Amino acid sequence: MNQPVSIVTYTQSPDSLKQCVELCEGFKNLRPSDRVLIKPNLVAWDDQFPIAPFGVYTTTRLVEDLILLLKDFGCSRITIGEGSVQLKKDMGTLAAYEGLGYRTLEKKYGVTLVDFNQSKSREFVYHEDQSLHIAEEAVDCDFFINFPVLKTHGQTKVSLGLKNLKGCLKLKSKRHCHNPESGLEFSFSHIVDFVKPAFTLIDGIYALEKGALHFGNAFRKNILIGSTDILAADMTGARIVGYPAEEIEHFKYFANRHDKSLDLADYDIRGESIDNHIQPLKWDWNWTRDNTGPDIFEKLGITGVALPKYDDTLCSGCSPIPIMSNILALSAFKGKPLPKVEILNGKKMQARPGYDKTVLLGNCIIKANKGNENIREAIKVKGCPPSESDVAEAMKAAGLAVNIDAYYGYMKQQSEKYDGKEGFDREFFSA
Ligand code: SF4
Repeated sequence: MNQPVSIVTYTQSPDSLKQCVELCEGFKNLRPSDRVLIKPNLVAWDDQFPIAPFGVYTTTRLVEDLILLLKDFGCSRITIGEGSVQLKKDMGTLAAYEGLGYRTLEKKYGVTLVDFNQSKSREFVYHEDQSLHIAEEAVDCDFFINFPVLKTHGQTKVSLGLKNLKGCLKLKSKRHCHNPESGLEFSFSHIVDFVKPAFTLIDGIYALEKGALHFGNAFRKNILIGSTDILAADMTGARIVGYPAEEIEHFKYFANRHDKSLDLADYDIRGESIDNHIQPLKWDWNWTRDNTGPDIFEKLGITGVALPKYDDTLCSGCSPIPIMSNILALSAFKGKPLPKVEILNGKKMQARPGYDKTVLLGNCIIKANKGNENIREAIKVKGCPPSESDVAEAMKAAGLAVNIDAYYGYMKQQSEKYDGKEGFDREFFSA
């Protein structure tokens, strides 16, 4: 039988979360003696250009509410685990814990903080001979609470409970998920089979459009979704941001394997009506018709240079690279055609004919274009991911008069874009 899903408007802490948990019977299989693991979404941390937290991170406020509920229930063995993307040296999970107030939660409530990137792992084989390495705390707990954020995503349309589990993987498995052969959504849709979340809570105090990292648009939404059925919670979240379940590939993979319905009418939705909360959010970034850059290139009349659209092989470490190279190309444009340069990233793009130089950003794309006869002159930027300064230098070497300060200015603007905006309260991200 399909499990209930609750939809509750967030009005205050901790009552709204309590209502959400009770309505969907979220703790019905919980025992006070259980080892509980909470997996929030703390995707990455950046101290140079802080990521505006709204819709990006699970709110610390709700994590604290959840800890209080668990303590009231009698649970004392509570761990919080995450494996944030390390965009820069020493800027991983521990920096995110520090920056988002988790050290205070640790002291106040005696919870244990675990960095999955440093954990031992277990290997799980899926789909014949492919394997995923998962942090052992994520599979050894008794009651796994999956606590994603309500967001759309530039590669997977939505990033909810199923996608949040990617943070339980070791780095090499995170990268494996972006392999060009089986595809991102097929790969990560299997993590749930090994982690087996007991309860999924979607934090929709803020919702994010076109996540993730620095670049999405956040909205104050004030909604909480809960279910012991991860697919039911995800389908509800997706519907609220405008996507029927049949449009989400990773939902389909999971539902097919487990013979589950993708029709929300088959689920027991409790609390508020979905219809009262639907707010369609875009997930995709538009590109020019000839795939030479974001659509602003066409509007501004930028020609010569080509930056094909990122694809789902681009893993999180390299994910800032396309925006960076786009902004740098924009900075080089002074109203005249730019040099004929093609700039590639990810793991599978192939250089096209007609360009004098081809800039290959990162180890994967260098390998993917080995022997490509369309390349007249390759400028290879090694690294996994390549550094910002190397990317800028390579573009200069290709003849583009880029200005790195334009990129830094853009990043600063992204960090500060909600400052002073009503409803965007940073207190939600401290304890
Ligand atoms: S080079 Fe980039 S795309 Fe390739 S594995 Fe490293 S971070 Fe991922």
